[in-house]
Amino acid sequence: MKKHGVINMFEAESLRIGTVIVSHELMGLVHYHGHLCPELAIGYRVSKIAMTELGITRENSLEYVAGAANSSSAVDAIQYLTGCTIGKQSFFIEDTGKHVYFFARRSLQPLTGQGLIIDLNGGLLKQNSKWYN
Ligand SMILES: [Zn+2]
Repeated sequence: MKKHGVINMFEAESLRIGTVIVSHELMGLVHYHGHLCPELAIGYRVSKIAMTELGITRENSLEYVAGAANSSSAVDAIQYLTGCTIGKQSFFIEDTGKHVYFFARRSLQPLTGQGLIIDLNGGLLKQNSKWYN
């Protein structure tokens, strides 16, 4: 919808960053983080996988915890998208420099499959209660 001859960027179908067309969600993330970078894209994809697999939303994020084994731009994406944040004590970083991410329900019981680890080095999604024990 046009307002005073200017397209409201949050009402447009899609948005552009340079020559790339991105979703409103990704554009909001880029505004939050300050720029689009490879590690932000990794955090975006990791978050979308966890949100799909575990049903995490910003609205129910208090039921979940998340973690990262790095302190890269990806952690901004995870906090922005999932609502699991350091401030809510639902996001944790143990910086080993690896792209390994953890998501789980707070009520996770061992081996129930309600958590997942995404390890970009292995390229696999693994169910694992290791970080919870
Ligand atoms: Zn960045």
